[in-house]
Amino acid sequence: MENRLFVVIPCYNEEEVLPETSRRISEKMRTLISAGKIAENSRVVLVNDGSRDKTWEIIRELHERDSLFSGVNLSRNRGHQNALLAGLMSVKDLADMTISMDADLQDDIDAIDEMVDCYLEGCDVVYGVRSSREKDSFFKRFTAESFYKLIRGMGGEVVFNHADYRLLSRRALLALSEFGETNLFLRGIIPMLGFKTDIVTYERGERFAGESKYPLKKMLAFAIEGITSLSAKPMRLIFTLGVLMLLAAFIILVAAFVRILTGAATGFVWISFSIWAVGGLILTSLGVVGEYVGKIYLETKKRPRFIVESFLHRD
Ligand code: UDP
Ligand code: MG
Repeated sequence: MENRLFVVIPCYNEEEVLPETSRRISEKMRTLISAGKIAENSRVVLVNDGSRDKTWEIIRELHERDSLFSGVNLSRNRGHQNALLAGLMSVKDLADMTISMDADLQDDIDAIDEMVDCYLEGCDVVYGVRSSREKDSFFKRFTAESFYKLIRGMGGEVVFNHADYRLLSRRALLALSEFGETNLFLRGIIPMLGFKTDIVTYERGERFAGESKYPLKKMLAFAIEGITSLSAKPMRLIFTLGVLMLLAAFIILVAAFVRILTGAATGFVWISFSIWAVGGLILTSLGVVGEYVGKIYLETKKRPRFIVESFLHRD
């Protein structure tokens, strides 16, 4: 086996861009093959994510015309992450390396060369990182950057400005397949894999044709999914909040004693003390329960406890 590359592209209602995308990617693959960097039986896997337009017809046609193209047809729309995973898992036993990219040519195809070079130098994971967001609207840029910051703040490990344009070696892919969780947030899971990694920067262009399949509603759902699937930290915040309330109660208590010493009235102070103290106790208790719920949550994901990179052994 030698350097067989599979490029996996999820497609949802992409009839407008597929002809151009397939033309450019096949050109790129042929150049790489003739340069001897990837094997001749490398493939481009187009995953149809339950499109309602002619996407699947186009994929079928491409496959019939040219064996470079393979197709995976999902039974219905399952979203970008699942479509991508479906493609990756379909080829995990065939590929030496995979590259995932979008169908709309926003991910610069020329970055593939550098990714493959990194792989040939021994990297298992290569992230495509966009150099700037100048071509995005202010709104998209703001929401996207806040999203990365929020996830990081919540304890998720994500690579800044990296979407799902990345190379994975077979080893990394097999490790990924050990993650049994259903709420799979790829960008957060890949850094957990470890292995030798590198970064390739590229200029992210505008969508070649058609419109974004990620409206605000899907983006928000994606962000919430990202945070809740990675960490149980939001629950820990409850505990912190409870401790702060107890602290406030303590300050009120001190104020009450000062008033006793100065002979001032203390009736209302005791009432506000009990409100803050009881509130704080309830929140800290909730936080303790949350800690256990969080543990159960992470346990149910049955993530691999370790991933062996190499095993030296002589009989
Ligand atoms: N996509 C998908 N299923 C969906 C939505 C999107 O497979 O439900 C694919 C889409 O065809 C494209 C990629 O995911 O190849 C990224 O989508 P898009 O370009 O619309 O997102 P944006 O670049 O606007 O964030
Ligand atoms: Mg796009």
